[in-house]
This record gives sequence, C-alpha cells and structure tokens, in this order.
Amino acid sequence: MAKKRDPKAPLKLDNEKQLLKHYYAGQRMESPMGGYLMLLGLRQGEDGDSVGIFECSASSLRYAMVIPAATRGERKKVKDAMDDGDDPDCPRHGHGTRLVRAGRDLVCMACGVAYGKAQ
Ligand SMILES: [Zn+2]
Repeated sequence: MAKKRDPKAPLKLDNEKQLLKHYYAGQRMESPMGGYLMLLGLRQGEDGDSVGIFECSASSLRYAMVIPAATRGERKKVKDAMDDGDDPDCPRHGHGTRLVRAGRDLVCMACGVAYGKAQ
C-alpha cells in the first residue's frame, strides 16, 4: 500500500547548513518561496538533535530543519566554562545566549539542543 503524504507535514530545505549558520547568527533566513522563515517551535529529535519547525512568511508553507546534536568539542567548551565557574553560553549562538537547565541537561532554548549536564 502506498504511503499517503501528510499535506501538513513540514517540507525539507535543501540548504540547511547555510540556513543554520544564519540561524545561529540571529540573522533572517530566506525561504525558498521568497519570504522569510519564522521559527514556530522546536521539538526533540533523535539522538540529541532537535527539529526546528519554520513557517515561510510569504507562502505559509512549513519547513522542518534538523539542528544537529552537540559535538564533543561543544560539550567540552561548555564543561570548561562551568569548571571555570562561568554560566555557559550556547556554543553556537555565542555570547549572551545562556544555556538553561532542563531536567538534568543544560539546553539552549534557541537550538533545543542539550550541550551539557547541570552540575
Ligand atoms: Zn543555541
């Protein structure tokens, strides 16, 4: 039996990597439909990554973009900051975007990704 495609299911973007750079920098992300991509929400993905759901301001089409899980280097950076007694920032969003406690994890609210364990 053929799988029916959910018409409301978010679409994929083919230049995710480039868009993510803009996203981390807090810049506007151009949608393939001519508008801008606005974040609707983040949901937990698999293996520590997260999925951002974006809506195009011009077409109202929805797109999903995977925000990759923390790398070993990013986790180390966060741990080093904590060992120094600092409140760690998001390694991707940079200075001023604090990680917040979510259960036992330290999470960036803009990435939806856990970068470390709360101490
Ligand atoms: Zn972040």
